Amino acid sequence: MKKHTFLIYGMLWLLLIASTFYQQMTDTKNYAQAIATRQAEMFFDHIVLLRHWNALHGGVYVPISDDTQPNPYQKLPERDLETKDGHKLTLINPAYMTPQIGEIEQGKTGIRFHITSRNPLRPENKPDSWELSALLAFTKGEASLSEAASIDGVPFYRYMAPLKIDNDCLKCHAQQGVKAGGYYGGLSISIPAGSIDEFVSARLRQLEFTHIGIALAGLVVLLVAFFTHQKMTRRLAKAKRHLQLAYMDVLTQLPNRRYYDFFVNREWKRAMRQGYPLSMIMIDIDYFKIYNDKMGHIQGDHCLQHVAKTMRRYFRRAGDLIARYGGEEFCVVAACDTDQIAQLAEILRKSVEDMQLPHPGSKISSFVTISLGAATVVPDETMEFEELLRRADQSLYLAKENGRNRVESYKV
Ligand code: GH3
Ligand code: MG
Ligand code: MG
Repeated sequence: MKKHTFLIYGMLWLLLIASTFYQQMTDTKNYAQAIATRQAEMFFDHIVLLRHWNALHGGVYVPISDDTQPNPYQKLPERDLETKDGHKLTLINPAYMTPQIGEIEQGKTGIRFHITSRNPLRPENKPDSWELSALLAFTKGEASLSEAASIDGVPFYRYMAPLKIDNDCLKCHAQQGVKAGGYYGGLSISIPAGSIDEFVSARLRQLEFTHIGIALAGLVVLLVAFFTHQKMTRRLAKAKRHLQLAYMDVLTQLPNRRYYDFFVNREWKRAMRQGYPLSMIMIDIDYFKIYNDKMGHIQGDHCLQHVAKTMRRYFRRAGDLIARYGGEEFCVVAACDTDQIAQLAEILRKSVEDMQLPHPGSKISSFVTISLGAATVVPDETMEFEELLRRADQSLYLAKENGRNRVESYKV
């Protein structure tokens, strides 16, 4: 795994964690909103029930006190009564009762109720801007409205639904042109966001903590995987190097005799199985002993390197091999026929000659040259591999005999 691959995996991991965190955060906030709405709905139903009970009795008489004065908007003749023993009572209708309950609730829990309409009898029942937008939404068919909104800068979860009108309501509201079955304004419930938000924040902190933990754990696993992978790659490269060294000739960087043996064995069997020809070229540098004598052994080594480098350019195919056979001799093995191997041999001969490496002691050229002996067989059960080697060697001998710097192919 390369460093940038690891970085990409790391980023993807963090992105995944961030997106699940975001998802959970959004879910938690929506959940809090849903709980607040449910709570408000329950309050709403409860208030509607109380109002219904009140309306059912045509209002309820209560003692007049500092807190409960006669309802100035109720013009009924029997609104105020006096008991035989002189207690003054006044009639409380649903509209007068609701704000009174609301006041008690607000004092106790901070939850606010507000009964409101676009055209209220009481000025204090005028809608605020959020309530007005809810009332407008009801006229367009919305059943209720709930969202987080602030009142005088204080955050609340607000809920509002229309109040249905029944016959009992008409006693007071008939003059406003409303009809039974319709609705007259609505009741808004505002739940302080504080306690719910506290719960949300605690849950978000918990989520944050968990996600950071998971993200770090993932990164640690990735890091461990990265370093383990690096270590394994290094070990593998080292093992590969060792293997290469075992099968490679250090001087010429060509496969060595050991690899040649392994390769030839494999190719021989394969050619036998599939019935195709296997060819070989034995290559020997001409007058190399004299070259060494004239130029020195070190220069002789350089010459071997140059010759090897020039010839190896023609060996790209997996089924072909050129190896250092020993001393100044090379050996080619290729899965091809007589003509093809003769062509390849000629290419190799010419490529070495064309290097024009000066050879002061050669009796046939001013440059370093090679002699090549080629042979081809179609291996079968009756034949040993050594037969191919013998034939190639025999051709090489012929090439030397016939004047060197040439290719000779084995003729049956
Ligand atoms: P011919 O044209 O008949 O092949 O003549 P030759 O002199 O090349 O014949 P021979 O095979 O007798 O000589 C091979 C020489 O190659 C002998 C040795 O000094 C030299 N030689 C073998 N291995 C190395 C090597 O690794 N480095 C160097 N510099 N010379 C080597
Ligand atoms: Mg030789
Ligand atoms: Mg030689």
